[in-house]
Amino acid sequence: SRDYLFKVLVIGNGHVGKTSLVHRYVNEKFNKNYKITVGVDFALKVLPWSDTQTVRLQLWDIAGQERFASMTRIYYREASGCIIMFDVTDACSFRGVRNWKDDLDAKATPPGGGPLPCILLANKSDLSPWELTQESIEEFSKANGFIGWMETSVKENKNINESINFLVEKMMMT
Ligand code: GDP
Repeated sequence: SRDYLFKVLVIGNGHVGKTSLVHRYVNEKFNKNYKITVGVDFALKVLPWSDTQTVRLQLWDIAGQERFASMTRIYYREASGCIIMFDVTDACSFRGVRNWKDDLDAKATPPGGGPLPCILLANKSDLSPWELTQESIEEFSKANGFIGWMETSVKENKNINESINFLVEKMMMT
């Protein structure tokens, strides 16, 4: 049997749903008032992957540090993958994605030397109107080296397991 341990960063502008995502995924709940406890660095999810494989995911939420719009190298150290989120009803949060991706590419140093697998999540897809088209998100995702993008709703539990499983598959291949 084989065990994998992956450190996964969850980044993006404030209020896009990062903390809710981690809480939903790890605790299987959506609580609109949930905030991660200050001082907790990451949440752990144990994922039985196959008969012989177990995946342990450390999900690192930047918990309130979005105002810096960039993170220290320590935060990125030994990351295996990354989730960048934005809010489909907030074009400003979509523009923020580029800064987060640039910061990640400048500071993350994956062991193999290649790019860090990074998925783009278009969150709050249950709300309308969207300020972005699916075409513009698709084009942006391709042009900026994401492994792909998915529309998610943490509130409605849409594409949460699917998107993280997709990222896990890519991390297992790198
Ligand atoms: P963070 O600052 O990125 O960690 O964002 P939070 O997780 O604190 O979420 C910000 C707000 O958006 C909270 O009020 C959440 O309940 C709400 N929220 C998060 N995800 C969704 C979603 O998919 N749909 C809707 N409608 N609201 C969401």
